[in-house]
Amino acid sequence: MASITFKEICKVYDKDVVAVKDFNLEIQDKEFMVLVGPSGCGKTTTLRMVAGLEEITSGELYIDDILVNDLLPKERDIAMVFQNYALYPHMTVYDNMAFGLKIRKMEKSEINEKVLNAAKILDIEELLQRKPRALSGGQRQRVAIGRAIVRSPKVFLMDEPLSNLDAKLRNEMRTEIIKLHKRLQTTFIYVTHDQTEAMTLGDRVVIMKDGLVQQIASPQEIYDKPANEFVATFIGTPQMNLFDAELIMEDDEYKISLNGKRMDMPNKYKETLRYKSIKPQNIRLGIRPENIIITEKTPESFEINIDVSELMGHEMLIHSKLYNNPIIIKASSRLNIEVDDKINISFVTDELHLFEKETGKNLL
Ligand code: ATP
Repeated sequence: MASITFKEICKVYDKDVVAVKDFNLEIQDKEFMVLVGPSGCGKTTTLRMVAGLEEITSGELYIDDILVNDLLPKERDIAMVFQNYALYPHMTVYDNMAFGLKIRKMEKSEINEKVLNAAKILDIEELLQRKPRALSGGQRQRVAIGRAIVRSPKVFLMDEPLSNLDAKLRNEMRTEIIKLHKRLQTTFIYVTHDQTEAMTLGDRVVIMKDGLVQQIASPQEIYDKPANEFVATFIGTPQMNLFDAELIMEDDEYKISLNGKRMDMPNKYKETLRYKSIKPQNIRLGIRPENIIITEKTPESFEINIDVSELMGHEMLIHSKLYNNPIIIKASSRLNIEVDDKINISFVTDELHLFEKETGKNLL
């Protein structure tokens, strides 16, 4: 069992650098939690506070209802896998994995069993007598994970463990990590700046920016209902298209005005806006590239000129401008279109996003 609770956690480094602010989160036992955000947002600091490698400035951190603020790393029953693997270069793979257990004065036979078992799980049995320099990046990463597994910790912490691997290996290891989590049935906290990793690995994802949590939700919810404009553009490639627009009230109905052109919206949106008593205001209107359709000319459609088209196998990205705003459309690569063609597009209104212009907050 290992649930982890952060209560109002703050971390201030010397010279008043506020790395993490008012961090609240409850991680369930066996959950795979991902912390994601741009460089410097405080995710590594958060992870290091859980490991006990960084002092907590204020707030309370609980592991299984035990306050651990003042516990030493070795008293927390946690294992951490680092980005740079941190293997001992002069030791064999076997000794690298056995080292932590030897320090704990575990019986030789028990150590042997644990190392062999971890090596089997990670498919590195053939490599046990090699030194780290004779391993590929992917193999080194497996050894680093193996060193964590042998300790059967309550919690696994992983800090960008795949970022030194090439794209293909990264994809493979991602699948391995999902399998590992299923097999070990332990709580994982995984730090990354890569949104694909976050979205594919996490049961839930914490999105951070400038030391502040922006949203905590399942990957699907984050994609479908981003809490604000930052989350909306951080998750999803190519990123969500955004336009300055107006939320207006006409004939006692909410409508969107984009450069003077009226757009209707689904009834469920109108109901939410009414329920929240949202006033007509300037907004940022968001639509993901895959939710723009190429159509015949209709009263609702917009005419655009194709600036660039990128063929990506089964789909195509069309770059254009709508009222001087850059816009990207994801379309089928079977379409027969060329640069400088004029096409008509319309938005899937069920998939529109409305953000408050001032704060970026999702209005729906
Ligand atoms: P990255 O993806 O680049 O590793 P991160 O999101 O993990 O970034 P942190 O490493 O947690 O971010 O850093 C958060 C903030 O705290 C940054 O502004 C960073 O410069 C600062 N910081 C980190 N470690 C220290 C330190 N030891 N002393 C002072 N400031 C620090």
